[in-house]
Amino acid sequence: MEPEIKHSFGILKKQGDSRCAEEALKEAVSHLQLIFQNMINAFVVFESVFDDQNRYVSFRFGYFNEAYSKIAKLELDDVLGRDVFEVWPGTEKSWLDVYRDVALTGRPKTFDMYHEPTKGLYHCNAYRPGDAPDYVCVIFEDITERDRDAKTLRESEEKYRALIETTDTGYAICDADGNVLDGNAEYVRLTGHKDLDEIRGKNILEWTARHDIKKNSLGFASCVEKGFIRDLNIDYIDEEGRATPIEINATLIETSSGPQILTLCRDITERKKAEEEKEKLRAQLNQANKMEAIGTLAGGIAHDFNNLLTSLMGYTSLIQLKMDRNNPLQQYVQQVLSASQKAADLIRSLLAFSRQQLVTLNPLDMNKTISTTKQLLKRLLTEDIELRTSLKRGDAVVMADRSQMDQILFNLATNARDAMPKGGLLFIETDIVSIDEGFREAHGFGKKGRYVLITVSDTGEGMDQTTLEKIFDPFFTTKEIGKGTGLGLATVYGIVKQHNGYITVCSEPGRGTIFRIYLPAIGAKAVDEKDRAATSVITGNETILVAEDDEDVRHFMMETLKQHGYKTVEAVDGEDAVEKFKKHKGIDLIIADSVMPKKNGREVYEEIHNINPSTRVLFISGYTKDIVLDRGIGDGEFDFVAKPLSLDTLLHKVREVLDR
Ligand code: ADP
Ligand code: MG
Repeated sequence: MEPEIKHSFGILKKQGDSRCAEEALKEAVSHLQLIFQNMINAFVVFESVFDDQNRYVSFRFGYFNEAYSKIAKLELDDVLGRDVFEVWPGTEKSWLDVYRDVALTGRPKTFDMYHEPTKGLYHCNAYRPGDAPDYVCVIFEDITERDRDAKTLRESEEKYRALIETTDTGYAICDADGNVLDGNAEYVRLTGHKDLDEIRGKNILEWTARHDIKKNSLGFASCVEKGFIRDLNIDYIDEEGRATPIEINATLIETSSGPQILTLCRDITERKKAEEEKEKLRAQLNQANKMEAIGTLAGGIAHDFNNLLTSLMGYTSLIQLKMDRNNPLQQYVQQVLSASQKAADLIRSLLAFSRQQLVTLNPLDMNKTISTTKQLLKRLLTEDIELRTSLKRGDAVVMADRSQMDQILFNLATNARDAMPKGGLLFIETDIVSIDEGFREAHGFGKKGRYVLITVSDTGEGMDQTTLEKIFDPFFTTKEIGKGTGLGLATVYGIVKQHNGYITVCSEPGRGTIFRIYLPAIGAKAVDEKDRAATSVITGNETILVAEDDEDVRHFMMETLKQHGYKTVEAVDGEDAVEKFKKHKGIDLIIADSVMPKKNGREVYEEIHNINPSTRVLFISGYTKDIVLDRGIGDGEFDFVAKPLSLDTLLHKVREVLDR
């Protein structure tokens, strides 16, 4: 049986004769039935139930369509006219209020309803058809699926939020003009803010560093145009002006609300630091390699040259001795000698640079050294240059070679003088500083520890970057020919390195120059320099064994010694030296070259010492790299004279050793 609508609600009543009206009504009802039956949404008509006091007490099924029948799993025939609470005993009483309200007031209601028996969620519209409170119609829209989608969307949004909030990459969404729509905490941090609300709606250029505004605008525009941008490096800046270097990758997406830019920003502070550090280290390594190579070359030349110079100077000195004082040729000989002396000085610089010069390290107070040398430095400077010193109270003691420290001060002061042709201030300071991790990070060098810092600054013309890069290279000079040798700073560099120290320079054209020298500080007290007054006696009659493989040098020494009364025994190498020592009784002193074929100086020393422990040995060396004597000379165990030998030094030293 077709379900029927009992009331037509008066809407289909037509004017006219009753037969016609009756037919029309029938037609309309069957139309309505079709309409309601085929509705996609469930449709119910509830009939209001009133008690005898006309109170709304319940509602019952008046009609429902096919769709409702399906949802509710009810047949209209079974439940028509039955109380809803009877059909669905579990129905909540609160529904009574809802329907009563609609029935009595006529105000429609919209609500979502979960229907447990069908496990469905419905969006409902309830309204009163007409003016009487007798009926309430309800249209049910099944939103179970839609709700599930919404939930899934919500979940996926939550996941995505969690994801972007956990990543350490800054993430932002902007509109096509660069105004921020959304961003994660890291992005907010990168912009120098605390809360997303502080930047939402603001333009990304607001926290772009001034120097990168153009770059970022262009990058953004190109992203809008091409659809992406990769690895754009710029600085963001916070309100206090602190810059953070970031790398941007962005992609354009089309959304329902227009094009948007998805931006990933990475903080590359650490990476940049590491790169800079690497670059610094590479530059330092290059510099060190270059210095090492030049040093080896210079040292090699200087070493051979030393032997040549020794015989040149030696024989010239002998000529001078043998010649009559009034001989007119004396002045030429003097010229040769003074030229040789200059050559010897040059060689000494080269050896210092290549760190192959023999040094005697003693605890040395740099404050005292500077105070003493100050007087000599003054003479070096022009009158319009003021020399000022500021020495740190307390011990500024380092293990150093006194003459080399003087050399450093002289070379730096000379340069300062040349840089201040119109006068100025030369300032020498000392301080005690520590090199720690922080220092290392800032400077890229330095072994941990306490250092004596010697700062030499001037108010001269300064240097540009290209000059600065080369100043420690030997023979680099900006001075006119004849004025500069280019060895001053190379020597300083070599000496500082040989003392396990560091040197830095800081200069700008027109703003003066500052050299800083760090030498490892030692706890010990400085030893007072012994007054080693040069012995005036340079002659003797003792027997001296001369062991030297270089024939010229050997002959020069023997000739010189003989001239001054000594007896000499000749040995051409280490083995020969030991043989000759055994053969000749009464040898008082052995002069031995440190490096010789067959047996080196040290081996000769040890063998002879075994035979006769009281025999004195004087070493000659131009060279520490042979390691033969390195230690022994450094700690004062051995006596030595450095090449090139000058006649005076040799004779004085021989006497000094014999008289001890
Ligand atoms: P030289 O003095 O013989 O030129 P140096 O090795 O002592 O050689 O110095 C190399 C170069 O470094 C100098 O020619 C000069 O250009 C520059 N220089 C060194 N010290 C200073 C300074 N205090 N002020 C300005 N320039 C300097
Ligand atoms: Mg110089």
